Amino acid sequence: MINRRNFLKSASALTLVGLAAGKAEALQAAAPVVAKTTAQKSIGLQIYSLGDELTKDVPNGMKKIKSMGYSTLELAGYNAGKINGVDMMEFKKMAEDAGLKITSSHVNPPTGEYTPDSRKGIMEFWKKTADDHAKLGVKYLVQPGQPRTRSVEEVAYVCDVFNEAGKIMKAAGIPFGYHNHDFEFAKVVPGGKEAVFNRHAKGETIYDLFIKDTDPSLVFFEMDVYWTVIGQHDPVEYMKKHPDRIKLLHIKDRDVLGKSGFMNFEAIFNEAYNIGVQEYYVELEGMPDVRTQFEGIQGCADYLLNAPFVK
Ligand code: MG
Repeated sequence: MINRRNFLKSASALTLVGLAAGKAEALQAAAPVVAKTTAQKSIGLQIYSLGDELTKDVPNGMKKIKSMGYSTLELAGYNAGKINGVDMMEFKKMAEDAGLKITSSHVNPPTGEYTPDSRKGIMEFWKKTADDHAKLGVKYLVQPGQPRTRSVEEVAYVCDVFNEAGKIMKAAGIPFGYHNHDFEFAKVVPGGKEAVFNRHAKGETIYDLFIKDTDPSLVFFEMDVYWTVIGQHDPVEYMKKHPDRIKLLHIKDRDVLGKSGFMNFEAIFNEAYNIGVQEYYVELEGMPDVRTQFEGIQGCADYLLNAPFVK
């Protein structure tokens, strides 16, 4: 309820705001015309996009990434405490010296064959990965590669292993996520010998089973919106259906963002804001043309900085 005292407080606050706005307008009128800054947009980059264009000179590469308008990074290339051969903590310092923050990391376990025999080795790998990434201080750890899943039973086993991986990461204070390609939209049947990529086929979609049979407190999803479309599904529909499970996005197109016409990024961003997606990372595959990957990710940053639907 507004009483007189609060009203007076509000009124004086409004006056102050009004005065400040007036002053700002006066300053603006006197200053030369400057393009509206887009620096407040927080754009992430999956460093896999750059390949050896980054690894051959990380400090300078980091500066270039920052100057393009990116502010956060998702790593790729973790192996035994190193990122593409560079000690993780040194890699972090190179990023921070350029003004970039590492918020996520893509890591695959040593095998894609999830069986009772391989499970112990997978978990030992995740424990070491969790320790290393806790030291690094990432907000998320994401598995980007799909383990073998040919039947409903194999999918169920993979979900169980995902849950155990999620528990290990959770103990280290890092949420564990899964990143899709297109083949998760294939279908499996009980006792099946092969997953079938055909939306008219009988069976259950692997990705839907991953969502249904993993524990929401242990496993989240980083949806790669491009691969979802290539998998003949609509990322917006998935976000609407699973607002509590999809926490991160890969913003990707067949080429530089917006070029192919495949992707409805406006609808994707609108729904991402609607469900409170926490972060997104631009990803760009190598394209067989004369363009460098740095030029490509510059084009992606420009697209997002100029897009009115990106906040
Ligand atoms: Mg991706």
